[in-house]
Amino acid sequence: MKVFKFGGASVKDANAVKNVGRILNLFPNEDIIVVISAMGKVTNALERLTDAFFYKKENAADVLNEIKKYHFDIVDQLFSNKQHSIYDELNNTFVELEWAIEDEPTHSYNHEYDQIVSMGELISTKIVSAYLNEVKINNQWLDARGIIQTDNTYREGRVDWELTQKLSENLSKQKGITITQGFIGGTSENFTTTLGREGSDYTAAILAFTTNSESVTIWKDVPGVLNADPKWFDETKKLEQISYQDAIELAYYGATVIHPKTIKPLQNKKIPLFVKSFIDPNEKGTVINEIQSPLPIPCFIFKVNQVLISISPKDFSFIIEENLSDIFNLFAEKQVKVNVMQNSAISFSVSVDNDERKLPDLIKTLQKQYRVLYNDNLELITIRYYDQATIERVTIDKKVLLEVKSRNTVQLVVKNA
Ligand code: ASP
Ligand code: MG
Repeated sequence: MKVFKFGGASVKDANAVKNVGRILNLFPNEDIIVVISAMGKVTNALERLTDAFFYKKENAADVLNEIKKYHFDIVDQLFSNKQHSIYDELNNTFVELEWAIEDEPTHSYNHEYDQIVSMGELISTKIVSAYLNEVKINNQWLDARGIIQTDNTYREGRVDWELTQKLSENLSKQKGITITQGFIGGTSENFTTTLGREGSDYTAAILAFTTNSESVTIWKDVPGVLNADPKWFDETKKLEQISYQDAIELAYYGATVIHPKTIKPLQNKKIPLFVKSFIDPNEKGTVINEIQSPLPIPCFIFKVNQVLISISPKDFSFIIEENLSDIFNLFAEKQVKVNVMQNSAISFSVSVDNDERKLPDLIKTLQKQYRVLYNDNLELITIRYYDQATIERVTIDKKVLLEVKSRNTVQLVVKNA
C-alpha cells in the first residue's frame, strides 16, 4: 500500500483535478490510499461561513452561495453529462450544510466549526472520486470519519490510535485506489472533528502508519522541500534528502511544507515520505527518511505577524516554577502556541502568532496576575544549521529583540529597523 496526499492547490480547479488523474495513471495496478484536502481556499471560505453563522459578521447564505458556485463551476467543467449522479450528491451535501446553519448554534464555536469546515473535504473527495471513476480510474470513496477516531477536542482532535488501528484493518487489505478526506476525523458520539489547519498531511501519516504502507507521497506545487520559502527568499535550494529529525525540527519551527505532526508516526515505522511536484511528477523531489547526516546548507523559516509578549509578576518576584506552570497552563487553555521563549530573572518572554481570536483574551487573563508588555508586527526568523554569516545576512536592517540559540538552531525575533 502507498499513501498519496493532494492538498488544496492540487485540486483547486478542473484542470488540477484532471492532473490528479494523470498522476494516478503513472501508478497502474497499485494499491493507493489517496488523501485529499478541500479544494483551493475552500477551508478559509468555510471558516468565514462559520463566523457568519456564529457571530453574524456577514450573511451566511451569501458565503454559502459563493462556496456552492465555486464547486459547481468545477463540476460543470469536469462532467459533460449533466445528469451525472454527482450533481444530486453535491446538492444533498449542500442541503445538509444549509440545515447545519439554519438554526441558532447549539454547541461551542469549535464544535460548530468542525461540523461546517469538514464539509470542504467531503465535497472535494466526492467530486474527485466521481471524476476519476468517470475517466475509468476506478476507485472507492471512503469516509475518513469511520476510520480516524479522535477525542472531542474540536479543531485539534487527538487521535485514538488504538481504535483507529482497529478500524483500519479492512483498509489495509483494500485493493486499488481508495479516495478519502484529509483533515477530518470522528468521535465516539459520531460528531466530526478536524485535526488542525493543514492537517491533511497528518491524515496521510496516520493512515500510512495504521495500514503499514510502504511510503507516503505529498504532491505539491513546489519541486520538493526547499531550504527556504520562495515567498520570502530569492535564492532557494531543493533538499534531496532530509532526516526525520530535521524534518520534525523544520516543521516544528514553522516550515509550512509539512504539518508538524506528520513525521513522528512515519519515523516510528520507518516509512519514507516523498515530497514531489504535481507539475513534474517524474522529477525526484525530496525524500524524508532515516539518514543521519545533517542538512548540507542552512535552512530558513520565516514567520511574520509575531507578537512578543513579556510577562513578569506584579510584585517583581522571580519567575519561578509556579509562575511558569501557571503561565503555560493559560497558553494551553487558550490554545496559543509558543513559537519561541526565553526567561530571565524577572520576566518570561514568548513570541506567538498574532491571532485576533485568541490573543486579546489571553493577554487579558494574564494581566489579572502579571504585568504584561507586548510588541507586535514582528518577524521570527529560525535558521537551522546556522553560522554567523547567515545570521548577519538575515538581520541586515533589522533590530533583534530576542535571540535564542541551541547547537543547531537559532531563533531571532526581529523588527524592521
Ligand atoms: N483543508 C484543510 C486546511 O486548509 C486541511 C489541509 O489542507 O491540509 O487547513
Ligand atoms: Mg490546505
